[in-house]
Amino acid sequence: MITDTVAGNEPAQTAPDAEHVRIFDTTLRDGEQLPGASMTFNERLQVAELLDAMGVDIIEAGLPVASNGDFESVQEIARRSKNSVVASLSCAAFKDIDLCDEAVKPAAQPRIHTFISTSPIHMKYKLQLEPEEVLQHVYDSVARTRNWVDDVEWNAEDGTRTEFEFLCRYVEATIKAGASTINIPDTVGYTTPLEYKDLFERVRATVPNSDQAIFSVHCHDDLGLAVANSLAGVAGGARQIECTINGLGE
Ligand SMILES: [Zn+2]
Repeated sequence: MITDTVAGNEPAQTAPDAEHVRIFDTTLRDGEQLPGASMTFNERLQVAELLDAMGVDIIEAGLPVASNGDFESVQEIARRSKNSVVASLSCAAFKDIDLCDEAVKPAAQPRIHTFISTSPIHMKYKLQLEPEEVLQHVYDSVARTRNWVDDVEWNAEDGTRTEFEFLCRYVEATIKAGASTINIPDTVGYTTPLEYKDLFERVRATVPNSDQAIFSVHCHDDLGLAVANSLAGVAGGARQIECTINGLGE
């Protein structure tokens, strides 16, 4: 759902609707990953149909690399959605990005959401890469994704534990590579509202091309603060909220 710019606010340069807070529902991806919450193919289609009819701006339909079932349901949701952008999640590997594109391609408004960990602890132990290597990887993966779709969201996994200087460099590089939405998630559910608000304000003020992207919150509820943090992120300038029906999932 697109609404007019709020009266009194300066329109951002990205789009006439830049002040609109987008609802990005990830019940079918993040929610569905919760043990006991997995859905059948038909249940997934029913949920997607309801979200589409409700006017949710973006539906994250799944992680195609996870299984054939995920791939097929993303593809079918992409085919059927009438109003919503249909997003599909991918890690930064080229073959996963390409698979993701195949799944989401039938959508009238396809989006690919690609992620890589950027915190020191994740880069060292999970990716086993140096920060400069991650930076190159980030740029290349976003550029690859832009070969397939215009609407690319980049996700700095473990963003709230990422070193600020590096986070800003990653964000700048991904916007240059063509990402139009930047997601800075609180992956380990560790931030607090003032800190998260401050993070968005500082990143937007520091990154020179930040006005060319929409910033997104994605909060986990380990400390029971996911809703408060999400609202604080919006107060800090984020204009997309990633959430699930009934807070299902992390
Ligand atoms: Zn999540």
